[in-house]
Amino acid sequence: MVGRAHEAWLGWRADPVARATALLTAADAVEAAGADLAPLLTREQGKPLSESYAEVARTAARLRYFAGSSPESRTIADGRPVHSEIRWRPLGPVAAIVPWNFPLQLASAKFAPALAAGNTVVLKPSPFTPLATRLLGSVMSAALPEGVLTIVTGREPLGARLASHPGIRHVTFTGSVPTGRAVAAGAAPGLARVTLELGGNDAAILLDDVDVERIADRLFWAAFRNCGQVCMAVKRVYAPARLHSRVVEALAERAKTVVVGSGLDPGTELGPVNNAAQLARVERCTARALADGARAVAGGHRLDRPGYFYAPTVLADVPPDSPVVTEEQFGPVLPVLPYGSLDEAVEAANATRYGLGGSVWGTDLDRAEAVAERLECGTAWINHHAELSLAQPFAGIKESGVGVAGGPWGLYGNLRPFVVHRPREAGG
Ligand code: NAD
Repeated sequence: MVGRAHEAWLGWRADPVARATALLTAADAVEAAGADLAPLLTREQGKPLSESYAEVARTAARLRYFAGSSPESRTIADGRPVHSEIRWRPLGPVAAIVPWNFPLQLASAKFAPALAAGNTVVLKPSPFTPLATRLLGSVMSAALPEGVLTIVTGREPLGARLASHPGIRHVTFTGSVPTGRAVAAGAAPGLARVTLELGGNDAAILLDDVDVERIADRLFWAAFRNCGQVCMAVKRVYAPARLHSRVVEALAERAKTVVVGSGLDPGTELGPVNNAAQLARVERCTARALADGARAVAGGHRLDRPGYFYAPTVLADVPPDSPVVTEEQFGPVLPVLPYGSLDEAVEAANATRYGLGGSVWGTDLDRAEAVAERLECGTAWINHHAELSLAQPFAGIKESGVGVAGGPWGLYGNLRPFVVHRPREAGG
C-alpha cells in the first residue's frame, strides 16, 4: 500500500491546479453521497442521523477549504546581494490514523490538508468504524488518481505497522495519549514527522455573574454531544459555590429529559456509547466516583435496554481527585465541582496533564476573557465550547498533542521548506 502511495505521489505532487480540481470534485461527490454515508455512519458510530449529515457536510467543506489553499513562496529580505526564496515541497506518503468518534470528519482533517499539499495518504480508521470510511474512500475514488488515497482496515498491529513503515514520511494521528506515545515511538526509527492530536479533559469555569438558565442548554450540549465522546467536550464544570446547586439542577434537568435512543430514530438526541470497552470505562469511572462519595443527580447507570446505552449523568459532591475529574472518561458523564475563589477555579482547571481546550462562562465578556487568558490549553472559548473554524489552528498543549492541525498551519504541517539562493546579478 505504501509502495503504491509512493508511486502515486510522483504524479500527484507535480500539478497543484489538477490537485485542487480533483479535491473539489471529491467534495461534490461526498456531498452527493450524503444519503448513503450518513445512515451508515450512524449505524456504526451511534450518533443521531442529523449529526452524521453534519459530519458529511463538514468533510466536504474541509475538502473545499484545502482545495482553495496553497502555500506562499516568500523572499527572504536580509539585505544580502542574493535572492533567497522559500518554496514549499510535499513530504511523500502520509499515514493517517484516526479514532471512532468522528470517523469521517477526523479522517478529512488528515487527508484534506495532506492531499492539498501534494502528498498521498494511507488512511487507517478505527476497527470500530471502518464502514463509512471505506464508503467515503470509494465515493472519492472517481475523483482521485489511483493510490492517492488508500484506506486500510483491520485490527492491530495494522496501525503500528503503518506508523513505523519506512516509506511513510509523516504520521498524523488522532486518538488517545497512550496510543499516541506508541505511534511516536514507532515512527522514531524512520524519523518520520509526527503530528499527534490526543485526548483532553476540558474544564468549563462559570463566573459568578453567569446567567445559569441562559447558558444551561449550550453548556449541556458542550458536554454531552456525541454522547460525550468528543476530545474537546466539557468534561468538568467549575461553578461558584453559591451557584453550584442551581447549575447542577439545570444540567440534571436536561440530562433527565434528553431523548436517548437509536441514532436512526428521528426524535433521538443522544445515541449509545460506541463500543463495549468504552462503555465499561464510563461505568468504571462513574462507579468509582459514586464509591468516593459522589451523588448522581441524574443518571449514574446503564439504561435497561439492548445496546451500549448509558443514562446521561450529572454528578455532584465529587472528590476532586476522583478519576472522573482527573481522567478523560469520554462518555455522557459530567462532574460539577464548586469553587471558592476564582484563583482556585483556574488552578483546578489547569491542574491536568491535558491541555486541549477550556471555556469561561459569564455576562461580563471582558472579565471572562481575562480568565480565559489564564487557561493552559490550545483553544479557549467564552460562553460556548468546542466550536472550531476550519481556518483556525488546532493544537493541544501538554499531553494533548504535538504539532498543529487546521487552517494554513495544517497545510504547512504537511510541507517542508525548500530554500533557493541565487545571485541577483548574472555572473554574481
Ligand atoms: P485509540 O488511541 O485507542 O485509537 C486511535 C486509533 O489508533 C485507532 O484507529 C486504533 O485502531 C489505532 N491504534 C491502536 N493501537 C495502535 C498502535 N499501537 N499503533 C498505531 N495505531 C494504533 O483512541 P480511540 O479510543 O479510538 O479514540 C478516543 C481517543 O481519541 C480519546 O482519547 C480522544 O480524546 C481522542 N481524540 C482526540 C482528538 C483530537 O483532535 N485531539 C479528536 C478525537 C478523539
